[in-house]
Amino acid sequence: MQETHDIVNPATEELVATVPAATPEDVDAAVRRAAGAQHRWAALAPGDRARQLRRFADAVDAHLEELAQLEVREAGHPVGNARWEAGNVRDLLEYAAGGVERLTGAQIPVPGGLDVTFHEPLGVVAVIAPWNFPMPIAAWGLAPALAAGNAVVLKPAETTPLTALRLAALALEAGLPEGLFQVLPGAGPVAGDALVRHPGVAKVVFTGSTAVGRSIMATCAEQVKRVTLELGGKSPNIVFADADIERAAAAAPDSFLDNTGQDCCARSRVLVQRSVHDRFLELLEPAVKSFTVGDPTDPATRMGPLISATHRERVRSYVPESAPALIRGEVPSGKGYWYPATVLEAAPGDRVAVEEVFGPVAVVIPFEDEAEAVRLANATDYGLSGSVWTRDVSRALRVSRAVAAGNLSVNSHSSVRYWTPFGGFKRSGLGRELGPGALAAFTETKNVFVAIDPLEESK
Ligand code: NAD
Repeated sequence: MQETHDIVNPATEELVATVPAATPEDVDAAVRRAAGAQHRWAALAPGDRARQLRRFADAVDAHLEELAQLEVREAGHPVGNARWEAGNVRDLLEYAAGGVERLTGAQIPVPGGLDVTFHEPLGVVAVIAPWNFPMPIAAWGLAPALAAGNAVVLKPAETTPLTALRLAALALEAGLPEGLFQVLPGAGPVAGDALVRHPGVAKVVFTGSTAVGRSIMATCAEQVKRVTLELGGKSPNIVFADADIERAAAAAPDSFLDNTGQDCCARSRVLVQRSVHDRFLELLEPAVKSFTVGDPTDPATRMGPLISATHRERVRSYVPESAPALIRGEVPSGKGYWYPATVLEAAPGDRVAVEEVFGPVAVVIPFEDEAEAVRLANATDYGLSGSVWTRDVSRALRVSRAVAAGNLSVNSHSSVRYWTPFGGFKRSGLGRELGPGALAAFTETKNVFVAIDPLEESK
């Protein structure tokens, strides 16, 4: 009998759907179908591919509310966030569609001939998505891969396959060819692993934990398969004494509580210059406590539950709700995988200050001067994002350049825009997604030299 996965609403613990889990045989059939569709898709005129992607974007746009509500039910995201996520999928598809005709090669001067480069599609791309932002992260791989002429087989996370399945149905309704974009819900070590190992898959785009990313990279190495990894983070939020402390404190909760802290970019290490440490905490407390927690279907809600009971146990293994904390928020009682906003004092080497908790937990660590701030910021194996709060432009740039992370923001926590590059240093990942280079990352560059015969009379 085929294995199935129960999809549970994390806010109510009610069963939302039961979804069949793909087997390695399903994976093989999907990759073969995708390969057939990809040849025809890549042969289309760029303008035709772009038009079809725009129709797909329009179909997503027409179903934004439905997709958002699905995300609320399967992932427990506040509806305001879920609406943004659905809109982000539409925007990504439109942005990628706009790049199809602009994916041009180069002509390079060489003696004796004409030298040109082509961006050839890779073939079948596997996108393996996590549960924390199921819709947008699936689209980060999907949209540019399709635009560059590839087919996509997407494996969503076990707990959150519903929006991905709906997106695949919308793609078909919008007229995308059968087989070009398929979704295979299933277990990571079964369907995910079969997809990574399949010789018909040219590239794997993986977003998830560093541990799984590392093993996927090792598997890809056997076939020298292309791989992009978007992995974990433990990002710093560096607050200097010369910053607008009121603004920095007001903005901080969003940077580690958004998505209930289940955010790879979460600024979960708050580094505060000692001279403003107490003042900052004084301001942080009301900001954390006013971060509205509760029913994700209420538009006023800013923080929902964690994804699952298992994940809540993992968060509790770092900080039980009974542990002493500098600041602790409230959560609803009754059903749902709730966990309160928690701010702790920690030493830089404490487990909770070093490992990714992936929950609404931040540690506050004081520093003396700029050199110490940079040293603490870089004292991690991760390097995904970070924030610098200061009024001194030179300091902002010095520190941004010195912190080993892929996405820094100054006087802001904004990390993700579909038109700017995104990705990690060190163990936070490999390669970049989004931005102007997104389509080219789904191609091979081919160089062709055409000899030019010299004029007959000059021979
Ligand atoms: P995970 O690594 O457990 O799973 C991610 C995906 O990989 C899921 O679809 C899962 O089924 C699949 N998978 C698991 N084992 C596999 C295997 N052996 N072969 C192939 N696929 C396999 O991660 P998660 O718990 O779903 O997500 C949380 C993690 O993702 C966090 O560490 C977070 O920081 C990271 N993340 C990173 C980014 C980024 O852009 N850098 C974005 C979001 C989440």
